[in-house]
Amino acid sequence: MIFPTGCLYVVATPIGNLGDFSRRGREVLDSVDCIAAEDTRHSAKLLEHYGIRRPLLAYHEHSGAPVREKLLDMLRDGASVALISDAGTPLISDPGYALVKAAREQGSQVIPIPGPSALLAALSVAGLPTDRFRFEGFPPAAQAARRKRLRELQGEPATWVLYESSHRILDCVEDLVAILGPDRGIFIAREMTKQFESHFRGSLAEAAAWLENDENQRKGEFVLLLAGYEAKEQAAEHLPEALRIVSLLQSELPLTRAAALAAKITGVRKKLIYEAAVKKM
Ligand code: SAM
Repeated sequence: MIFPTGCLYVVATPIGNLGDFSRRGREVLDSVDCIAAEDTRHSAKLLEHYGIRRPLLAYHEHSGAPVREKLLDMLRDGASVALISDAGTPLISDPGYALVKAAREQGSQVIPIPGPSALLAALSVAGLPTDRFRFEGFPPAAQAARRKRLRELQGEPATWVLYESSHRILDCVEDLVAILGPDRGIFIAREMTKQFESHFRGSLAEAAAWLENDENQRKGEFVLLLAGYEAKEQAAEHLPEALRIVSLLQSELPLTRAAALAAKITGVRKKLIYEAAVKKM
């Protein structure tokens, strides 16, 4: 296969199982002038496995400005460059954004070589809604900042996705219980595509117990998918306030009007408030 030169190829690599590396991905890596890798020692093992021997350059975003300039020069000179990260799809909680942006801005072609990503792998098997989802990457490491972030996400109606490491998985799930309550649904995908892969699906309280009771389940890499905030949760939370408003307004207004105003104030559906108010009479 002939690949155009002067291109930046963004190549996805396996997230565990080497069998998931696409043939096209391997062919691109074997044909480029240079492979820019997040960690050259880590990627050398992968390339060695496939007998790929191309020049490797370490590229990560923080220390990367001079290397980025060098890669951009190469692209301008008509060389082809592949960008890979340690695992999965570059730029997804991995380096590459600044390079791709700059390559686009200088008019270089940027071509994706799609493949594994922990985010989509987990989403595809969780059994949670996928029509809309929100990717949040790694939550903050410090507890106060993490809890603040989780509070901000509490009302998100779409399925949301977090990455987490073994060092913080239990703390993170305990914080999720504290902020979202014990009943919110969660799916945990651990060590996907690897020998000790495991999945958990249930409530947050059950997930905390699953992790606490089995130290093996706290090892490895994790994707957490949280069920979105549901209208019925919202209703359960705000209905008492809506009914209090209705009882205040009812001496001045008909019930339908009082329920409509209470719905506007609290966000709970008017029908729900009306029916609950009738039941209370
Ligand atoms: N770029 C990668 C991707 O496309 O998924 C993600 C890189 S990020 C630095 C690494 C995190 O991804 C891990 O801490 C974990 O949260 C998640 N992850 C990567 N591989 C995984 C796997 N095999 N099983 C579960 N989670 C994984």
